[in-house]
Amino acid sequence: MFTTTIAGSLPKPDWLSEPEQLFASWKLEGDALVEGQRRAAREWIEHQQEAGIDIVTEGEQGRIHFVHGFLQHIDGIDWQLKTPMGIRDNRYTVEVPTVTGPISRTGSVHGEEARYARSVATNQLKFTLPGPMTICDTIADLHYGKRADMAMAFADALNQEARELEAAGVDVVQFDEPAFNVFTQDVQDWGIDALHRAIDGLNCTTAVHICYGYGIEANRQWKDSLGSEWRQYEEIFPAINASRIDQVSLECAHSRVPLSLLGLLKDKQLMVGAVGVEADIIETPEEVAATLKAAMKYVDKERIMPCSNCGMAPIAYDVALAKLRALGAGARLAA
Ligand SMILES: [Zn+2]
Repeated sequence: MFTTTIAGSLPKPDWLSEPEQLFASWKLEGDALVEGQRRAAREWIEHQQEAGIDIVTEGEQGRIHFVHGFLQHIDGIDWQLKTPMGIRDNRYTVEVPTVTGPISRTGSVHGEEARYARSVATNQLKFTLPGPMTICDTIADLHYGKRADMAMAFADALNQEARELEAAGVDVVQFDEPAFNVFTQDVQDWGIDALHRAIDGLNCTTAVHICYGYGIEANRQWKDSLGSEWRQYEEIFPAINASRIDQVSLECAHSRVPLSLLGLLKDKQLMVGAVGVEADIIETPEEVAATLKAAMKYVDKERIMPCSNCGMAPIAYDVALAKLRALGAGARLAA
């Protein structure tokens, strides 16, 4: 049998925030908001366990965005000073907050959410954090000067948070690094070093998620520009395979990644994305099984963990639920 999991985020219910948007604001406030986030997390954990997902997440129900949810609790950032920035090597432009002083974590960010998720999940629990490189590609810098230096400062803050998550009983801490597919030379020069700093001293399982982005229009256009074979992974896999990270989450469903590249990660557990995050596709269990079997040509079955390609935050709740069920059923078919 496979051990199944998901990349991380799941849609928020429409009573908690505006659906199918990336930066939707909350519809509740104060204690009602915390209670709502908990209820949404509990319901997604139950949905995953019923769908046969072995390592569950709280679906990132407590944060508005996968990077900014972490940054909101970090000192050294001026949220009023918005700087236009060409995210992911100018794939799209966003007004981002600006680092104006030394980065420091003033207190727990996701600790309460993790402790609550641990109290309701009977399965293993994974918790996601943004990776240092991806943070640096989502915020402007007026203080550090060099991206690598700022990444190390964020890695220290992430490490403090990861240690708290481990103490809360989290089984897997995953760092989301979509920027790894864009700045492939930086991955080798300092990206892995920053990840190592973020996992320093952890005894739990560690993971990195490297995707081609949410199923939003800017990413679709970018993917269309990448040609018939997506070989970005090829440039970074040797460095990742040599790293101390245990698991790697990859985009394999509906992607033009040649699956032969998975052979470069000989020493890692591979979370093979077998459902996509397109809003208008619900995979059948047979399609999920076919993707897993295609990966098994290049990876020992024991090292494959069926997974989603990426976070499902921006898609409809019912579509995400159907994808979870297809993933669980497809994994059982291919087992
Ligand atoms: Zn992703």
